[in-house]
Amino acid sequence: MSRPLFARGRSGHNGCMRVVSLVPSLTELIWELAPGTLAGRTKFCTEPPEMAARVPAFGGTKDPDVAAIAALQPDLVIANREENRREDVAALEAAGLDAAWYAERERERDEILPWDHIHAGVDKDFLWTEYERAARGEVTPDCRLQGCSGCGACPERKASPEAGETGG
Ligand code: SF4
Repeated sequence: MSRPLFARGRSGHNGCMRVVSLVPSLTELIWELAPGTLAGRTKFCTEPPEMAARVPAFGGTKDPDVAAIAALQPDLVIANREENRREDVAALEAAGLDAAWYAERERERDEILPWDHIHAGVDKDFLWTEYERAARGEVTPDCRLQGCSGCGACPERKASPEAGETGG
């Protein structure tokens, strides 16, 4: 999955994130995971039909309605290199959406992230510790072979990892 390219700010709207997606596959995913956050899409984001019936379209993937998107004051606009044009991203930035603020700055550990409402089954604290370990060049042992590292996935999924062929 390509990284999101930019976002506007961190305030939210009445505590609810407002997201505009310019990538059809990601629009569908956002609708699946957090439908209440999806505030805009492209005319090519048509699945599922109930989403297309409720979420307004702002142009296409290659010609988004920049003025209308900026007027919406989204917290996050998602684009990627495969579906969208660099010049449209630049136009959105010129309209006040800040790519670098979202995509490139360092985060603090206690920052509430735009995707925090999506629970992947692995603890956020564990992921942060993994990030710090990776920055130090440390490798976390394979829990199937060397014991549990406490990521939190097993209690959530009632799973028990086993060592075996990876199929790669
Ligand atoms: S054993 Fe389960 S909880 Fe422990 S690190 Fe592995 S996947 Fe995570």
